[in-house]
Order: sequence, then structure tokens, then C-alpha cells
Amino acid sequence: MSDKKMDVVVLGAGIVGVSVAYAARQQGLSVVLVDRREPGSETSYGNAGILSSGSISPLNNPSLWSALPKYLTNRHAALRWNIGWSLRNADWVIRFLANAIPSHTKPRAAALHGLIGASLKLHQDWIVKAGAANRIRETGWLKAWRSDAVEAAMREQALLTEFGIESQLLDRQAISALEPNILPVYKVGLLHSQTASVDSPGSVVKAYANMFAGAGGEIRQSDIKSIVPGDEGWRVVLDDATLLARHVVVALGPWSADILRPLGYRVPLAFERGYHREFKPNPARSLQRPIHDADGSFLMTPMEQGIRVTSGVELTDRDAPSSFAQIDAVEPMAREVVEFGEQVGDTWRGARPTLPDSLPMIGPAPRHAGLWLAFGNQHIGFTTGPATGAAIAAMIKGMPPPFDVTAFAPSRYI
Ligand SMILES: Cc1cc2nc3c(=O)[nH]c(=O)nc-3n(C[C@H](O)[C@H](O)[C@H](O)COP(=O)(O)OP(=O)(O)OC[C@H]3O[C@@H](n4cnc5c(N)ncnc54)[C@H](O)[C@@H]3O)c2cc1C
Repeated sequence: MSDKKMDVVVLGAGIVGVSVAYAARQQGLSVVLVDRREPGSETSYGNAGILSSGSISPLNNPSLWSALPKYLTNRHAALRWNIGWSLRNADWVIRFLANAIPSHTKPRAAALHGLIGASLKLHQDWIVKAGAANRIRETGWLKAWRSDAVEAAMREQALLTEFGIESQLLDRQAISALEPNILPVYKVGLLHSQTASVDSPGSVVKAYANMFAGAGGEIRQSDIKSIVPGDEGWRVVLDDATLLARHVVVALGPWSADILRPLGYRVPLAFERGYHREFKPNPARSLQRPIHDADGSFLMTPMEQGIRVTSGVELTDRDAPSSFAQIDAVEPMAREVVEFGEQVGDTWRGARPTLPDSLPMIGPAPRHAGLWLAFGNQHIGFTTGPATGAAIAAMIKGMPPPFDVTAFAPSRYI
């Protein structure tokens, strides 16, 4: 056991944990960041790399009700659900659906808008300081419909406008002008013009982790076994050592609930699993920006390695065996949009950690001093990691967070 007591031990080195660690170090705190893998190797590696200004509408919004009949068939590319998991987690499913009503949607959109806005400012600053500015593309994000979905696009645009987020409604010709290398399959488009993306989210997280180490932080590669409260702080039990800390931050993404269970916290965390496949690009047919095929329920993003196609949501146990049905179904649809070559590497699987209101937990654990929770960032964790981290660091220091964290209080569920 190390005798040295750290101010903060951060558990998990995904985008959220790395951000907490760097922000805490910037506050002058001594910090150790622990992960069993290299920083940015799990969920924060395999996402679509979108730094989305416009993802303010949680997935469980009122439009979910009209989509539900097609989802119940369990054949739709947007959502597959495991019956056993759904029965065992009926409580989560009911609470998730109960939030999909108008009166619960606007307040959550406002809360997410605050979190996203603060986070994008930090990304802009950090990515330059971390020497990774070459990875960012300020070309927006295109949501596109094969059907004549002008009304849906306009509804989405109206919500964005309400929050001062710019977007442009596009017809077939305008889409072709914007993305000259895709085939004309889309009738309607909505360009989220204030959205950026990166060509390797895992590398960006690693660059932020290096920036943390460069600022005097310590990174440790160990398996975290448990956290034990004491009279004056915490013992963090690793497979190869025990660390002492005044504050512990749980930023373990989809693994966060496990470590909290022995302390009596039952966190209603579900796993919206998703897959990606990468393909050799055709240099003459490159994409300029990520494209969300709204009717096909998949995303295509130009990445360092090639074109990354990501799938919709699979609701099941975090560690259940992979099912490639969704990604198999969308791959031919992606080939209808842009020409690309054979698959590069294996199919990747990750799990978006999601609470029933689709808002993360950002704040103190209700019954333990010095225990902080930073997880549940669902579909937009790569976007929202930095401000999640900055808020936790500020709260540890007893300072006001950079956005209103009221809606993210862990005490709403535990
Ligand atoms: C297909 C897909 C596409 C996505 N696209 C986007 C997007 O375009 N934009 C966006 O903003 N978000 C996107 N997301 C969401 C985003 O990827 C996640 O919200 C985010 O990565 C979560 O980060 P995290 O730090 O909470 O978790 P993670 O990145 O999973 O980090 C948790 C860390 O904890 C470590 N860990 C767990 N248990 C232990 C233990 N016992 N001991 C030691 N270490 C442990 C793991 O090794 C891991 O490194 C997408 C997600 C998916 C699945």
C-alpha cells in the first residue's frame, strides 16, 4: 500500500475519466488516473467521433411512441432488444418510456444544452493544447432522409433554433453539392453546421491523457477491484496495489454500477450497445463529414483508418455475446450511399451507458463524502466528457461548475 494520500483518484480513463483527471489537475490537485487498459480504449475508442452541438433531444422523447410499434417487431435496425433483459430490467424500461413525454423533454434538452455548450468550448481549447488539432474537422454533421421527411427535419430544426443552434435544411441538389461523392439517395437533409467531428476519438482521448500526464498527473494501468471508505478518505484496491485518496471519482462508463453496488448503491444503468465496422475508403469517393442515415438507422464517418459505419441500439446485458444482425443489415445500405472497399479489422462492439432519463450522473454520491459520480453519458459521451470532468473538478474544489448541474444530481436515482 502506498502511504502517499492523493487528493483525487479517478477510476476509468475513457473520455470522461481523462477529462475529470485533467480538469482536477488544472485545479492544482494531485491526481492518479487508473484504468486496466490504455486511455481511450473502450467506448471512447469506437464511437462515431461527433462533437455534436445539436444532440440535445434525448432518445426517449415523445417521437419514441410513434416508432414503438416498428421497434416491437425486434427487426428494426434502430433498436434490437433482448426479451430476457427487458423483463429483468422492466423497471428501467418503464422509467425510460415514462420520460418520453413533452413535459419531461424540454427540461432535459435545456440541461443537455448547457452541458454540451460548456463541453464544446473545452474540446476546442484542449484539442489544441493536446497537439491533436489536426484531428478535428469543422464540417458539420449531416442528418439525411431517403423518404420525403421534410416535416420531421423541420421539427428537429425548430427545436435547434429554439436553443440558438444553427442548422440548414437541404434538398437533394443541396445535399449533392455538399457531399459530391455520395449517390443521390437522400431527399431531405439537415446540416448541423455548428457540429465538428474527429478522425480518431481514441487518439484524441490518448492525447488528452498525455496532456494530463504532462501537467503532472499520474496514469496507472491496473484492474480496479473495490473502493473502501475510511475515516479520512478512501482506499482504492487495485490488483497490484492499494491507493489512498481524499476523493474518488467513478468514471467507469458502462462498468460504473458494479463498483458502487457493495456500497449499497443500486444504479439503474442500462447498456445501449452498438457496433462499428471500418472499410477501406475509395480515395476518389471520400466523405466530407459524418452522415446520419435517419431512415436506415446508421452513421457513416470518415476516420483515419477508413469509413466507419456505426449501428443503432441493442438493449441487452453488457457482456452478452455479440449479435451482428444490425450492423450486417446496414452495411449494404451504406454501400448504396458511397462506394468503399473491404472491411479493415474486426467488427467492434461497445456499450453506451444510459440512465432512465438519458442524463448522466455528475455530482456527489448521496451517502458517502468524497465519492463523486461521472458516468451515464449515453450517446454523447465523447461530446460531453470535458465539461463532465470540469464540473466534477470544480465541485471537489467547492467552486461553481461551468454549467447548471442540477438535473444531473446522482441523488435523483440513488
Ligand atoms: C456505436 C457508438 C457510437 C457513438 N458515437 C458517439 C459520437 O459520435 N459522439 C459522442 O459524443 N458520443 C458517441 N458515443 C457515446 C460515447 O462513446 C460514450 O458515451 C463515451 O465514450 C463514454 O465514455 P466513458 O469515459 O464514460 O466510458 P469508457 O470510454 O467506456 O471508459 C470507461 C473505462 O473504464 C475502464 N474500466 C472499467 N472497469 C474497470 C476496472 N474494473 N478496472 C480498471 N478499469 C476499468 C475501461 O477500461 C474504460 O477505459 C457512441 C457510442 C457508441 C457505442
